[in-house]
Parts: sequence; structure tokens; C-alpha cells
Amino acid sequence: MQSIRGMHDILPEEIKYWQYIYLAAIETFEIASYQEIRTPLLENTALFNRSIGENTDIINKEMYTFKDRGNRDLTLRPEGTASIARAVIEHNLCNNHQIQRLWYLAPMFRYERPQHGRQRQFHQLGIECIGSYNAMADAETIYLAQYFLNKLQCTDYSIEINSIGSIKDRSRYKLDLQKYLIPYIDDLDQESQTRLFNNTIRILDSKSQKTQEILNYAPKLINYLEKSTLEHFEEVTDYLESLRIQYTINTKIVRGLDYYNKTAFEIKSPLQGTQDTICGGGRYDNLIEQIGGPQIPAVGWAIGIERLLLIAKDQIKIQSQPLYYYIATEGYEAKKYILQIIPILQKYQIKFEIDFTNSNFQKQLKRANKKRAIMCLLISSYEVENNSITIKWLQEYQQESYHIKDFLDNLKNIKQKYH
Ligand code: ATP
Ligand code: MG
Repeated sequence: MQSIRGMHDILPEEIKYWQYIYLAAIETFEIASYQEIRTPLLENTALFNRSIGENTDIINKEMYTFKDRGNRDLTLRPEGTASIARAVIEHNLCNNHQIQRLWYLAPMFRYERPQHGRQRQFHQLGIECIGSYNAMADAETIYLAQYFLNKLQCTDYSIEINSIGSIKDRSRYKLDLQKYLIPYIDDLDQESQTRLFNNTIRILDSKSQKTQEILNYAPKLINYLEKSTLEHFEEVTDYLESLRIQYTINTKIVRGLDYYNKTAFEIKSPLQGTQDTICGGGRYDNLIEQIGGPQIPAVGWAIGIERLLLIAKDQIKIQSQPLYYYIATEGYEAKKYILQIIPILQKYQIKFEIDFTNSNFQKQLKRANKKRAIMCLLISSYEVENNSITIKWLQEYQQESYHIKDFLDNLKNIKQKYH
């Protein structure tokens, strides 16, 4: 049996990076008054259909949708924002105009061709600032993305931002862009050709050089934006400058989800190919209303953790606690005897490992050495009868005996000595 294509186990060697990221997220976001939220993996398919947009890649071809035994249409969530918007409405989290600052780290599912940095089950870390139209909220979320990346010693990235106006602005623009591109249809790359009549604006995102050359003279989205949108964008960039955040304006950023309006941004890494975006986000002032809630504005982003690890892993230095005590016993009584030691090791957070075998001390010591333990506790019927404990310091080849009480009283000091 094997795991499903594009879905991977995260093995113990790898999980320490995930734990590190999770802790870094708690430290970064809780300080900024963001609270963690967890929503179910499954949602009604209608939630995504109504929010993400019918002509997007996600809705067209990437969703894991199925019927459950009650004939309900369900989907494994392809992204986090729609579920959170649903939860905000369902639990009335923004009543009395309060702002909700939320973060999550959770698996997402998209039926895509698996490749380097692209999986079918992947993880996103995201934040959502819900309840404010203020450009300061856009700037704060971008600031937190940068802060988080820097905290992981990840500095090789660029922040690109754009303003994409409202759905109305974009539909006017889409028609003009289509009109401009139709004469060039045969010169466009394959993917852009298929996007021309439904997902037209995503063509701006094309990686094909030829398509990009054609786009050089195409109508520009910025000319279709309302004055208030342009003013909002200027405020965002102004705040970013005050926060000393380096960014570039990239008018070709459009994002793959329809619910964004005004600010859209991406953080790109020097990774090659189409998997260079580690973070994508933007403002979504109409999403909550669109799925049946009140008019509540919001802004947020999501980072793909697998992609982040591709660039950040080497810089992450994990300090794991050494194995202090390997516990070797001989006989049944000795095994029972160590049960008075274990809770104290737990209490002082001293790492231990019990040898479960009935092999002789020599073999157990060999294993202790192999595990690079600092000490091996040896307990035989002699120690049990004398209420004592024998310690072998594995690097120094020394052996000492203690009364069990002295040993337990001194445990804390022994740990400090070695830390
Ligand atoms: P792409 O253009 O690479 O498909 P996207 O626009 O679909 O990305 P978003 O929906 O904005 O991506 O998701 C935000 C981030 O989640 C991406 O920048 C990426 O880091 C990560 N991500 C998205 N899809 C995948 C995937 N299939 N496997 C791994 N990470 C992913
Ligand atoms: Mg995608």
C-alpha cells in the first residue's frame, strides 16, 4: 500500500521543521493579537463554488469533490479563506463591528499535477484580518508576512503588490483585454488560449515570454480602477514605506481567486519554474456578503509551507534536547523499580528512553552508545535491594552509584550541568 499520489507523509525527521514553523507562527501572530482558528477539512461544495469563482483553476479542475452517504456534495477544502468567512458568519464573530484577526495552519487539497513544490495535499499558513476597510490592515498583514519570513531567517524573497479593483472594474477590463488579444490568439501559449474566453485576466500571469510580449501593448487594468481604489492603493504603499517594507508594484499580479478586490500581492522566492510564489494574498471586501453574510471587509494571505520549506529549511537550526538517560534493566523487579524514576524525569523535562528488551547489560549499553545517550542508568536486582542506582557516563567511561533519593534530588542539577 502506498500513500495517494501527491499526498505525502511527514516523517519524524521532517516534522521538527513543522513544529518549529508552528511555534514561530504562534510567537509572531499571537503578539499581534491574531488568534488561531481551525475549521473542518470538509465543507459543502457550494461554499467554494460561490466564493472562489466559476472560471478559476480551483473550481474548474482542482477540487476534490464527492458525495457522502447522505448524498451531500462535499469538498475537501482547497484553501482556507472561504471556510473562515463561513465560520465568521456562522458564529457571528464580527458582531458590533469588531475586528477579527485570525490565523491558521492547515492542510489543503487540490487535484493538480504533482511536481516539485506542488502537491495534492499541501499546507497553508494564513492570516485573515476581518472587519476593516482601512489600508493599514493591508499593510499590517503584509508586514506580518515579512516578519514571519524573516523570523525563519528567510530573506531571499520579493514582495510584489498590485491593485486589481472590483469585480465590476475587472469585468469591464476583461472585455477590452479579450478584444485586444483575439487577433493574437494563435501566438498565445496553449494555456492562455484556453483562458482567453473565460479566465482572461489570468493570462497576465502567463510565464510564456511570447505571451508577455503581446501583453506589453495590451490595455492596463490600472486604467479601469476607480479613484477611491487608487487612493486606497496609494495609502497601502505609503504605509509599507513607513514600515520600511521593500516591495515592487507588479501590474500583472491578478491572483487565481475571484473574490479579491483592491490590494493583491504575492511573495516570490528565487525558486525556478512556476512554483516560485510562496505567499499569495489580498483584500476581499465582498466575500462574506457573497456567501450570505453581512457586508464585512477583510484582507489576508496564505503561505504554502512545503514551498517555504524548500527555501527556508537550510536556515532553520533545530535544537533538540540530547538523550540524557538510557535506562537499562535486568529482570522484572528492576523494570518495576524504574517506574519511580520516570515521573521525575518527566517533571524536569529530561529526555529518556527505556530499553524494553531482556538482553544483558552489555547489549543494552551498546544500544545506549548508538543512541548517543549521555548516561545509562543500570538497574539490576542489586540496585533494587540496595535502593540505589548505578549511572554510567558514556563518554567518560565512569560509573557511579547513588542512593535513589540522592539521585532523584540531584536530577535537576545534573540536567543543568549538561545543558
Ligand atoms: P500557483 O500559481 O503556484 O498554483 P496559487 O495561486 O494557486 O499558486 P494560492 O491559491 O494563492 O496559490 O495559494 C497560496 C500559496 O499556497 C501558494 O503561493 C503556494 O505557496 C501554496 N500552494 C498553492 N497550491 C499548492 C500546491 N498544489 N502545492 C503546494 N503548495 C501550494
Ligand atoms: Mg494554483
